[in-house]
Amino acid sequence: MPSGGSFDDSEDDRLRREAMAWLTIRTNDGADPLSYLDIEDFRFADEGIILRNRYTGIWKPRQLEAALSITTTYSLPGSKPPYEDAIHSDGRIRYKWRQSKSEAKRRDDADLADNRALREAMRLKKPLIWFHGVGPGLYQAIFPVFLVAEEPELKQFVVATDGTQDIPVAPASVAEEALREYVERTTLARVHQPVFRSMVMRAYETRCAVCELKHGQLLDAAHIVPDSHANGIAAVTNGLALCKIHHSAFDARILGIDPDYTVHIRPDLLEEIDGPMLRYGLQERHGQKLMAVPKIRSERPDRRRLESSFERFLAG
Ligand SMILES: [Zn+2]
Repeated sequence: MPSGGSFDDSEDDRLRREAMAWLTIRTNDGADPLSYLDIEDFRFADEGIILRNRYTGIWKPRQLEAALSITTTYSLPGSKPPYEDAIHSDGRIRYKWRQSKSEAKRRDDADLADNRALREAMRLKKPLIWFHGVGPGLYQAIFPVFLVAEEPELKQFVVATDGTQDIPVAPASVAEEALREYVERTTLARVHQPVFRSMVMRAYETRCAVCELKHGQLLDAAHIVPDSHANGIAAVTNGLALCKIHHSAFDARILGIDPDYTVHIRPDLLEEIDGPMLRYGLQERHGQKLMAVPKIRSERPDRRRLESSFERFLAG
């Protein structure tokens, strides 16, 4: 049993297992975000070990050798994040080293305790929990994640959701390159999807932008322009909360949204006569403004992206 001292390997494993089992239940199998207070509900054993520390991005309880969790804070679109983005514009997922506040000390950053704790997690192949901010004080827990490589010159670790393979930082063969691409693609998908959805649902207060339907199970986080990841991960301004019907109509170019947030329905559908879904759900939305947009101005749909998607709608 844990006794206040350092954990041995099996105690360490048990903590991580219990933490992730608890998160599975509390997040509805990874679907729902948690507030920072929710996260503090978890306490491990007598020592009351917590899952993340409010004041630091890299969390290693004193009983462990390796980090237990990493946190990325949410920053509003257009504002400068407190730490460099963990997800790069090329779609690769990295976690930055902790950096010294003072410029002069930065060359010793590799040896900071937090960075050593990350390196230990990598060496021991320990599963970590990643709390990714999706709103102020709100986090999507992604677990398990593994640190599979370090890029010291860029002061960062490579994050993957599959810890079984070591991915080559500098691939030397076609097979290595393919492996690396595969790991990065699956990791991105598994991180991007829940983060994007939670961010969009939070910003739209779980309402369809077009009809204000409020049932989360019937809502999707839709991309305004297909996500090439060219603009970084999970940009809420490239998102719209849409009910299933309006999402499908939007993707099929039956419904368009212009840069002034006005809804348009394809002309031939306006002529049709059919049941209530066509009439109330589509025809009567024509010419109306979006019913729900984020309260925070900088989180509202990006007008340039709407313009480009609206052009495609007009082209049919
Ligand atoms: Zn709707």
